[in-house]
Amino acid sequence: MALERYVGQMNEKYALDKKFYDEINSNKINHKLIEKYEVPRNRGKGFIVRKGQVIKIIEAGGPQISDVTFWNADNPKELFDAERTIQLEGWFITKYSRIWSRHPWFRPMATCLEDTVVTSEPEKGYHHHWVGSHCAPEIYELRAGKAGLNACHLMFLEAIEPFGLKEEDILHNVNIHQKGRIDPFTGRIFCPASDAKKGDHIDFYAEIDLLVAVTVCPNGDGLKDGTDPEDVDIWPIGVEIYDTGTVPKEFYGWTNWRTNWKGRWTPEGKKVKKI
Ligand SMILES: [Zn+2]
Repeated sequence: MALERYVGQMNEKYALDKKFYDEINSNKINHKLIEKYEVPRNRGKGFIVRKGQVIKIIEAGGPQISDVTFWNADNPKELFDAERTIQLEGWFITKYSRIWSRHPWFRPMATCLEDTVVTSEPEKGYHHHWVGSHCAPEIYELRAGKAGLNACHLMFLEAIEPFGLKEEDILHNVNIHQKGRIDPFTGRIFCPASDAKKGDHIDFYAEIDLLVAVTVCPNGDGLKDGTDPEDVDIWPIGVEIYDTGTVPKEFYGWTNWRTNWKGRWTPEGKKVKKI
């Protein structure tokens, strides 16, 4: 008998169709560039990425962490759920990883099409993970006793404000280009320097219309942190958005558990007595 089980097991009707994404990726030459932007040091920026488009997050100068997160462009209550995503995809992003939204929507928001970062010394961790959230002024104050430092939390606010979102709309994020390791004995999170190089990029294919917020993290390549900003090398983050000309496949819908779930609690707080 097996002594453990894999928690990301997926029935084949919900499994990723790799061929579909391989075809999109191999047709890059025909993708049409529709937006190109460089997010500068200390800033955050929001981008609308329509379904079927690709957002490419690029190391514009050198190894640089970018905190990135996702909302449904038409309904910000539907946002990226890191915990569900870890359950299904594992704790870091590789090609074919999917970004899942929270309940009750709970569906793929985006799919990773390509990741060019080569991880050296994998025993020291992997890149692009969803563990440990993003930096915030309060975290820096806890760490160093210094108030008023800039952090990705404030850059997210700058990114989402033009779209009418507020601080309470910020929850989970992906730590793009960041290398991380969870110590198996203590459970603590460690951050070695990123292996990403100038020109490295990670690409996401939008499954629904998205608002994507992108920051330039004061932690630079991750080895130092933003509590001493003058001591950290910071590079801008390039963003490119492409039209692929390929419409996303419809996600295989859930069964209507609200009516099938007889006699149990519904989201409305009522028991379903009879169908
Ligand atoms: Zn940060």
